[in-house]
Amino acid sequence: MTPPEPWKSLYRRYRPQRFGEVRGQDHVTRTLRNEVRDGRVTHAYLFSGPRGTGKTSTARILAKALNCAAPVDGEPDGTCASCVAIAEGSSLDVHELDAASNNGVDAMRDLVSRAALGTPGRWKVYIVDEVHMLSAPASNALLKTLEEPPGHVIFVLATTDPQKVLPTIRSRAQHFEFRLLPTELIAEHLRWVADDAKLDLSPADLDRVARRGHGSARDALSVLDQVAAAGGLEDEAEAADEVIEALCERDAGRALVAIAQRTAAGLDARQVTRDLLERLRQVFLATMARSLVGLPDEELARVEDQARRLGPAAIVRAMEALGDALVAMRDAPDPRVLLEVALVRQCRPDADISPAALLERIERLERGQSGRGATDSGQDEPPGAEPKAARPADRARAALGGVRAAPPTPAKAPDPEPPSTEPPSSTEPPSSTEPQQNNEPPSRAAPAPEPAGSFPTRDELTLAWGDVVLAALPQRAKVRFGGGHFVGVDDTWATFALPNSVHRDRCEECRPDVEQALASHFGRPVPLRLVVIEPGTPPAPDHPSAQPDDEIDLSDLRDAPAAEVASPVDHVMQIFEGAEVVED
Ligand SMILES: [Zn+2]
Repeated sequence: MTPPEPWKSLYRRYRPQRFGEVRGQDHVTRTLRNEVRDGRVTHAYLFSGPRGTGKTSTARILAKALNCAAPVDGEPDGTCASCVAIAEGSSLDVHELDAASNNGVDAMRDLVSRAALGTPGRWKVYIVDEVHMLSAPASNALLKTLEEPPGHVIFVLATTDPQKVLPTIRSRAQHFEFRLLPTELIAEHLRWVADDAKLDLSPADLDRVARRGHGSARDALSVLDQVAAAGGLEDEAEAADEVIEALCERDAGRALVAIAQRTAAGLDARQVTRDLLERLRQVFLATMARSLVGLPDEELARVEDQARRLGPAAIVRAMEALGDALVAMRDAPDPRVLLEVALVRQCRPDADISPAALLERIERLERGQSGRGATDSGQDEPPGAEPKAARPADRARAALGGVRAAPPTPAKAPDPEPPSTEPPSSTEPPSSTEPQQNNEPPSRAAPAPEPAGSFPTRDELTLAWGDVVLAALPQRAKVRFGGGHFVGVDDTWATFALPNSVHRDRCEECRPDVEQALASHFGRPVPLRLVVIEPGTPPAPDHPSAQPDDEIDLSDLRDAPAAEVASPVDHVMQIFEGAEVVED
């Protein structure tokens, strides 16, 4: 497709010019049109609704219709001098103030004083966008004018948050609520636009663009613009599809690669998660009500196949986990970590609860015992407030049937409990001292000290990172390392990727902190190799040595510390909950 020159954005080009062209807001436009036709307009309107639903466009159409030299049945003709001037933004009859960027009383006084002057047209229309963001004095200045409006003046107050508009202002305005558009309506509009603009896009592409609009015709047209400029659509559905396939195959590595590709391409982890949830919703609907999925036939068949392979329980579990992750992402320094943890966990339903979380629980129990006696409960204590017992993680790993290591005292031989989804209960004894029947080999009864467990896999690293380690890092390391992720491991290294070399160099400075935290968690050294991941480069496969060995620097090898001690900064941070360390 070749865009006409000069290129005008589709949103501007196809901005509605008449009431009849505003999509999905008939309940508003019909009333306005009748009021114009019958000469019943009021002095103040409040247009509320989500962004991109046509509030400002409708306000301008109202201005046009009121001042049109030859209106037809309440609609502007679009061709008279006034209509043309308003469409061009050069009319003296329409004034716009964006309260989001200019919320002061001076701007409002200026607007109000102009409202009192004579006007070349019959009506002066003042459009105040995001009116809820006006300062209190500006709101009061506006209110005064609304109380005694000049006869030829109309205010259109637009807001995404009507509850924050002064009630005294709200009560003086006729309130219209704009709604998000159904995807099908947007898709219909896009098909018309694509046809008119001669864009060569498949119906599936247009459906995808429509969903991307999330109920806003404006946003959908912006996406369509990008598609037109790029010559194709970054297929988020396909990327989401790849992750769903990974979930079906229980292949955590594949899921992480797909996520890394999306984020390396510059996509926000939240958006990736939303796309995934949208796809999962379709998979879920395919199990319930096929007709509601709203996909072309070939895609529907694929979604149904995935629904069959995943099963309803796993679909619901995945939706819950991703929904929780999305909520937690609001405060997370690195939202992608939460996404990765959620996905890896979904790929390992056998454990019911992640090994890392189980390790953490056992560690907590042990700390509680060593500090307060064996009968004490596993209640949470201030996190990281005291040094950990020696290598609880090793014993936990042994308890999980993984690597065996020596418990600190013979009396506390590990007693594996079946993995459970229940949180640790304060009423349960943390562990029984009775020998339990299990399938453990006899070596467990007489454990011999071993130097370290096997090197953690990338999945284990990713889980531990998101669940425990990242949060426990000293603030400086936390901030710097938050922007990266594990891309691979071999038997001696974990490879950690960062977005650019500056970032990597800064991370290099606190690499020892991170290695110490990892060693403490896994009970063995976990040396890190920090690499820069180029945008678009998929991470190396999970295992083994995908990186050239000649980069290894033996001087980077270091021993694991015996225990992890919280830094003074961490202590301060824990005491002042919600405080932030300002880096540098
Ligand atoms: Zn006109």
